[in-house]
Amino acid sequence: MRHGLPASGEDWESLRERMIALASGDVDWRNARTAVYIFNAGEDVLRVAKEAYALYQSENALGPLAFPSLARMEREVVEMGLGLLHAPPEACGNMTSGGSESIFLAVKTCRDQARAQGRDTRGGEIVIPQSAHPAFDKAAHYLDLSVQRVPVGADLRADVDAMAARLGERSLMLVGSAPCFPYGLIDPIKALGALAERHDLWLHVDACVGGYFAPFARMNGALLPAFDFEVPGVRSISSDLHKYGYVSKGASTIFHRSETQRAHQIFEFDDWPAGGMTTPTAAGTRPGGAIACAWAVTHYLGEQGYREKTRIVMETREKMERAIAKISPLKILGEPTLGILAFTSDGPDPHAIWGRMLARGWFSSVVTEPRGIQLMLSPAHAAVCDEYLEDLREAILEVEQGVASGPDPGPRYA
Ligand SMILES: *Cc1c(COP(=O)(O)O)cnc(C)c1O
Repeated sequence: MRHGLPASGEDWESLRERMIALASGDVDWRNARTAVYIFNAGEDVLRVAKEAYALYQSENALGPLAFPSLARMEREVVEMGLGLLHAPPEACGNMTSGGSESIFLAVKTCRDQARAQGRDTRGGEIVIPQSAHPAFDKAAHYLDLSVQRVPVGADLRADVDAMAARLGERSLMLVGSAPCFPYGLIDPIKALGALAERHDLWLHVDACVGGYFAPFARMNGALLPAFDFEVPGVRSISSDLHKYGYVSKGASTIFHRSETQRAHQIFEFDDWPAGGMTTPTAAGTRPGGAIACAWAVTHYLGEQGYREKTRIVMETREKMERAIAKISPLKILGEPTLGILAFTSDGPDPHAIWGRMLARGWFSSVVTEPRGIQLMLSPAHAAVCDEYLEDLREAILEVEQGVASGPDPGPRYA
């Protein structure tokens, strides 16, 4: 039966209790047993995020005239993000609702700029590594473009020569990830940039999960390849605040190399009875809470806070990587350098191991090429990584002994 609107209202206290009870079947993220969907930087950060969100929960960033506060906070958040990514002075950007919207806008802006330059974009193509996020396929689907997915190299990073071989008349955009979601590896952005420049193509760097992490890892001394606007061919970057920015959900940034380029992102319209409307992103109404939350969390942590969180995640990743490499059937995929790692198994099926880990309360993502387990680490995982590793060894034994594998994730992410 369809759930109906109650005839009369219920008091908040009892609703609150019911909502908390509803979560009893959810993953146990507060105890750091979840390594996907959640970025847990500790109780203090969660409190700042929640209170800041609540302070501006009713305000609407669609109206910068009515809410100069939000316009200013968005501008400052964008400028801080640009400051982390070697952005030239003319670079600019916007806050969006998430990585998928940031990517959608990058693809749309690329297409519309090409059109403005007189190109016929029908049948236009974007050429991406096989490890790139489905948000590109979704954007292309919405925008009537097509995607060429190109197999990654033996190191599981974008194969630039293979991507070059796929370029043609209709190509509009190249994509590299920093890092890609499945394996946590940074694609060779410099080589992609050179390729993009040679063919006058738009290179988008998907730094959704690295844009607020890799810069701090580098400040802490990690030797990372160039991946941002430092590479001349890079025209836009997506970077999610609601991942390693530790902001509440609904917050990402899209950055452009120049204002003339971003102009193709903005939609303006006035032929209706309520006057002109200008929207820089895909949304109309834009939640003030997400912008305020981003402003507060970035100022609460500051460079020092982010560096510290990043240091903890990097140490946890290195420790888990070393330990997993020593568990005999397991093999780390590629050479992870940030907060994500993935591993496969030469013995028992990794997805069966995943099922046994789920039975022990651990929730993470999987990879399918090859079959494996993926972990996206947060600062909160430092406290539980020993326990995870112990359970992992036992889960392998269980699978070897034929214990029913439990739930199979199947080949899916969401
Ligand atoms: C998370 C992610 C996205 C999509 O972001 P959403 O906020 O989930 O829409 C895109 N690319 C990468 C590499 C990601 O990790």
